[in-house]
Amino acid sequence: MRPRVRAAALLAAALLAAGCAREAPEHRYSFLAMGTVVELTLHGAPAGLAERAHRALEADFTYMERTWHAWRPGALGRVNTLLATGHWFSAAPSVLPLIVEARALAEASGGLFDPGIGKLIALWGFHGDDPGGERPPPDAARIAALLAARPSILDLEVRGIRVRSRNPEVQLDFGAFAKGLAVDRAVERLRRLGVTSALVNAGGDLRVLGRHGDRPWRIGIRAPRGNGILAALEVADGEAVFTSGDYERYFTWQGRRYHHILDPRTGRPARGLVSVTVVHDDGSEADAAATALFVAGPREWPAVAARLGLTQVLVVDEAGRLQATPALARRLRIVARPAPPLETVPLPAVPEGTAAAPAGGGAP
Ligand code: ADP
Ligand code: MG
Repeated sequence: MRPRVRAAALLAAALLAAGCAREAPEHRYSFLAMGTVVELTLHGAPAGLAERAHRALEADFTYMERTWHAWRPGALGRVNTLLATGHWFSAAPSVLPLIVEARALAEASGGLFDPGIGKLIALWGFHGDDPGGERPPPDAARIAALLAARPSILDLEVRGIRVRSRNPEVQLDFGAFAKGLAVDRAVERLRRLGVTSALVNAGGDLRVLGRHGDRPWRIGIRAPRGNGILAALEVADGEAVFTSGDYERYFTWQGRRYHHILDPRTGRPARGLVSVTVVHDDGSEADAAATALFVAGPREWPAVAARLGLTQVLVVDEAGRLQATPALARRLRIVARPAPPLETVPLPAVPEGTAAAPAGGGAP
C-alpha cells in the first residue's frame, strides 16, 4: 500500500474505532431502595435489554427491602415475632438462607458481625429511617441489661427449615449485609438477562459485571471526611467493593458522634476506625466483613481479616491514616490531596483449622 493510501486507511480505521467506542451505549438508572440510592450503569447493552434490566432490578430491590426489613411487616419481621416465643417455627425460604449464611459469618468473625443484636440496634435508634439529629444516647442501664442477656445469632437452632431461639432477646437485623446480598442477586439477575457489562452501586457499595468496553470498570472510594474521593480503583469482573463508615448514619449529642456500627462486646458504637473498605468476590461476605473489621478496630482488624479469608482491605483511622493489605495497596491510586500516608499491612497467617468457611459463600 502506498504511504498516502495507508495513512488514509489508518485514519479511517481510527475513526471507525473511535466511532465504535462512541457508539457503545451507556445506560444509567437510579432508584431508591434499602435506604439509599441504587445506581445501575450498563455498558454496551441495547436499549430494550437495558430497560428490562432496570425494571427487573428495581422490582427485585423493592422485594428484598420488604422481605428483609427487620422492623416492618414482612418475612423477616415474622421471623422476629416468632423468635421471641422461643418455640420452633418454619422460616420462610426468602429468609432461611440468610440466617444460615449470617450464622457462619458471625462465627467466622468471632461475633463482631452479629445480626442477632437487633434489640441493641433498636435501642440505639438505628432501626428507623432517620437516626440523625441531636439526641441523647440510650440509658446505660438499658444497654447493660441487654448486654447481660448476650443476644447472638449463634443462639439460633436451625434444623432443616425449622428455627428457634434459645434466647428470647435475639432479634435479627440484617442491615450489615443485606445490601451485599441484594447486590449479589442483582448481578446474578443481570447475568441471566444476558447483560455482560454492568455496575450496580448501592450508595457506594457495589459490584461489577464484566468490563467497561476495553478497560475494567473504574470506581472511587469515598473519603470518610469531606465529600471527595479518597482513592480510585479498577474493579475486575465479579468483584464487590463494600465500605462501612461512621459517617453514613449517626446522631450527635454534646459534641460527640454516635454512629450505627455497634460493638456487640460493649453494646456501643465501635471506636478507633472511621471507615473500612473490603474488596472481595462475594458481595454479602464483603459487606459483613466490612462491618466486622470496623468493629475489630485498628489493632485487631488484620487478624479478623485473615480469619475471614479476605486479602484486600483498606482502613482509615480516626487520625486519617490509611492502612491497606499488600494486595489492595498495589491496586489503589490515592487521589485525595494532600495524599494521606498509606501503610501496607500484611495479614497474619491463620492457624490451621480456624479459617472461615461461610456456608453460603462463594460467588453465584
Ligand atoms: P452501611 O449500612 O452503612 O453499609 P454496615 O454494612 O456496616 O453499614 O451496616 C450497619 C448496619 O448493620 C447498622 O445500621 C445496623 O443495622 C447493623 N449493625 C450494626 N452493628 C452491627 C454488628 N456488630 N453486627 C451486625 N450488624 C450490625
Ligand atoms: Mg456491612
